Amino acid sequence: MKSIDLRSDTVTNPTAAMRAAMVAAEVGDDVYGEDPTVNALQQRLADELGFEAGLFVPSGTQSNLLALLAHCERGDEYLVGMDAHTYKFEGGGAAVLGSIQPQPIVQAEDGSLPLERIEAAIKPVDPHFARSRLLALENTWHGRPLPLDYLDAAHELARKHGLGLHLDGARLFNAAIACDVPARAITRHFDTVSICLSKGLGAPVGSVLVGSSALVDKARRWRKVCGGGWRQAGILAAAGLHALDHHVARLADDHRRAAYLAGRLREIAGVDLLGQHTNMVFIDVPAARLRELDVHLREAGIRISIGYLPTLRLVTHLDIDDDGIERTVAAFREFFARRA
Ligand SMILES: *Cc1c(COP(=O)(O)O)cnc(C)c1O
Repeated sequence: MKSIDLRSDTVTNPTAAMRAAMVAAEVGDDVYGEDPTVNALQQRLADELGFEAGLFVPSGTQSNLLALLAHCERGDEYLVGMDAHTYKFEGGGAAVLGSIQPQPIVQAEDGSLPLERIEAAIKPVDPHFARSRLLALENTWHGRPLPLDYLDAAHELARKHGLGLHLDGARLFNAAIACDVPARAITRHFDTVSICLSKGLGAPVGSVLVGSSALVDKARRWRKVCGGGWRQAGILAAAGLHALDHHVARLADDHRRAAYLAGRLREIAGVDLLGQHTNMVFIDVPAARLRELDVHLREAGIRISIGYLPTLRLVTHLDIDDDGIERTVAAFREFFARRA
């Protein structure tokens, strides 16, 4: 029985076609800038998203960290959502490795950082304070695309105060598809953008940071310092290029399946559906029943993630087909029927 892993869209396995592209990749030493496949991936995303340069890195965490290090110096600060990945889920890297202070901002329900809260948190130029340098946003946030007019307003505010603007766009293409715009309509507001290839796009490894040549040069230096300079990485970049060719438009399938799954779960008595955005479905399950549900689903070959978030998050991706969704609905129905 095929396992149905709804924990995250990071769990996808490279397809046969992706593996074939990896095997066929032309490679060189990327520390010398000589890997043609890495260079092609970096340039392709930079061009598509409207930037001068790109940098291929092992993970989204490293990509965000390098962006923070490129924008900020020791004693600077970045303003960031209180629940943002770049603040909460990256081991405090900016502070640990960059002596950069985070200024967390309580987010609105939709994940945006209210502009008046940002403005109130920006420090005056005075030796008492860290230097406010950067605003970091995340899109999608818990599956939600940030509203396009919010991006306009945040951009304007950042310019007014001389802040750089970084986007953690781990799921940028999910946001673009949900908003029915080219990704560039989102990225044009930012100085740097980090994109994950290993989430819904289905590559085994990798993220790309795009920005101006000056910022990407700085990030490349910090990548080396962090031990992230790699050699024949074209094997991995080939998977990224394959993903960009074949797995972007199909994100809409993940969104459709998540919407369908949410609709079916909503019909089940006892399921408290909190919402669905792009490829994520959120359910409130009483903590006391979560373990029991997990055991029940495991027996049906279904995996869920418990413990990271206060609510249960189900994520659709490349390896979840329509049959997997039907099996999931059936397993939930059975669980709540037996124990209603
Ligand atoms: C997954 C993710 C990242 C990066 O994660 P890695 O596991 O380090 O690749 C960054 N931001 C968001 C919002 C993510 O979901």
